[in-house]
Amino acid sequence: MSEPAAAALPLPIEAEVVIVGAGPVGLFQIFELGLLGISAHIIDSLRQVGGQCTELYPDKPIYDIPALPICGAQELIDRLVEQAKPFKATYHLGQEVTEVRLLPDGKIFVATSAGARFNAGAVVIAGGVGSFQPRRLAIPGVETLEGTGVHYRVKAAGDFHDKDLVICGGGDSALDWTVALHDKARSLTLVHRRGEFRAAPASVARMRELVAAGRMQLLEGTVVAHHLDNERLAAVEVQAADGTRSRVRAEHVLAFFGLHPKLGPIAEWGLELEKKALKVDTEKFQTSVPGIFAIGDINTYPGKKKLILSGFHEAALAAFGIQHHLFPGKRQFLQYTTTSPIMQKRLGVVGTEDA
Ligand SMILES: Cc1cc2nc3c(=O)[nH]c(=O)nc-3n(C[C@H](O)[C@H](O)[C@H](O)COP(=O)(O)OP(=O)(O)OC[C@H]3O[C@@H](n4cnc5c(N)ncnc54)[C@H](O)[C@@H]3O)c2cc1C
Repeated sequence: MSEPAAAALPLPIEAEVVIVGAGPVGLFQIFELGLLGISAHIIDSLRQVGGQCTELYPDKPIYDIPALPICGAQELIDRLVEQAKPFKATYHLGQEVTEVRLLPDGKIFVATSAGARFNAGAVVIAGGVGSFQPRRLAIPGVETLEGTGVHYRVKAAGDFHDKDLVICGGGDSALDWTVALHDKARSLTLVHRRGEFRAAPASVARMRELVAAGRMQLLEGTVVAHHLDNERLAAVEVQAADGTRSRVRAEHVLAFFGLHPKLGPIAEWGLELEKKALKVDTEKFQTSVPGIFAIGDINTYPGKKKLILSGFHEAALAAFGIQHHLFPGKRQFLQYTTTSPIMQKRLGVVGTEDA
C-alpha cells in the first residue's frame, strides 16, 4: 500500500512588503509605500490596529502631531487608517509574527502564529515596544490549563454557559463579561483585589445590583491556588487582604488583568540589537539584514526619540529605501502629492488613466 501523501501546505503569499505591527507608525508605512506604488500586508498580534495609542491611551489627547493642535489617540489611528485606505493593504490581525528569515534568493520569509506564511520582497518591523501579551495568573501550574480552564480572552461566550465561572479583574473587560454572562453561567464570581473598579460606572453599578439580588457573588482578593478534578479545573482559592482564604467552584477562570508588551520573537530573528531595540541606519532605517527595515519605537540610532512624529519621518525614508531595495535599477525622484499626477492617481483623487 502506498504511503498517504503528506498534506500539502498552502503556498506562501507573495508580498511586495510585509509590515510587522499596526501601530501608528506601521499604519503610516502603508501610506508612504502606497505613494511610491508599493503594496503591503500588515500583521499585528492584537485584534485591532492602533498599537499603544489604541491599547494604552485611546481617550487621551495628543498635542504634538503636526497641524493637529489636539487629536485623540484613537482619532489619530482612525485618521491614519482612513489616509492609508486608497492603498488597499491586507490586514492580518490577531496573529503574532513568529519568524522572519532571509532566504537564499534575497526574499524574506515571514510566518505567523495563525499559520500564515509570506515570501516578501522587504519587511518593515514596526513592532513598537513589542507584541502585547495578556498579564497571566501568577499561580504555579496554571499555564497547562490555558485554553481549557483558564482564559485571557473570550473566544466563544457559549463555552461558559451552564458552567461555574470565576472572572478576575476590575476593568471594562472583566465587568462587561460579568454583566453579559451572569445569567448564562451556572454560577459566577467576580474576583477583584480591591473595592474600587476602573470599569465604566454603569457596568459597576449593574454588577453591584446583581450581587445585591443574589445573582452572582463579588469577592475582594486574589486567586492564589487552584484545584483539579480529573485533570480539569474544579475550584480556585481566593485570598483576601487579611489572609483569609475562600474556596470557589470554578470550571473556568476568565482573567482580565490587561496587556503588557513583550519584545518576544523579534529578538530571535538574528537582527542586531541594542538595549532591546533594533539597530538601524538613519538613511533608510534598514536593520543589520538587507531588506529588513525597522521604524518607530522598536528601532534605535544616535539621537533616537520615541515619538510618533519621529516614526512618521522614518516611515517616509524607509519607503524610499524599500523602493530602491525592490527595484534597484529604478531612478528615484521626489514628487509632491500636491502636483504629482501619478501620486494623485494612486491616491484616487484624479482619474484612473495612466499618468
Ligand atoms: C500613555 C502614553 C502616552 C503617549 N503620548 C504620546 C504623545 O503625546 N506623543 C507622541 O509622539 N508619543 C506618545 N506616546 C508614545 C507613542 O504612543 C509611541 O511612540 C507610538 O505608539 C509608537 O508607535 P509604533 O507604531 O512604533 O509602535 P506601537 O504603537 O507600540 O505599535 C506596535 C504594534 O506592533 C505589534 N507587534 C509587536 N511585535 C509583533 C509581532 N511579533 N507580531 C505581530 N505584531 C507585533 C504590537 O502588538 C503593536 O500593536 C505615548 C505613549 C504612552 C504609553
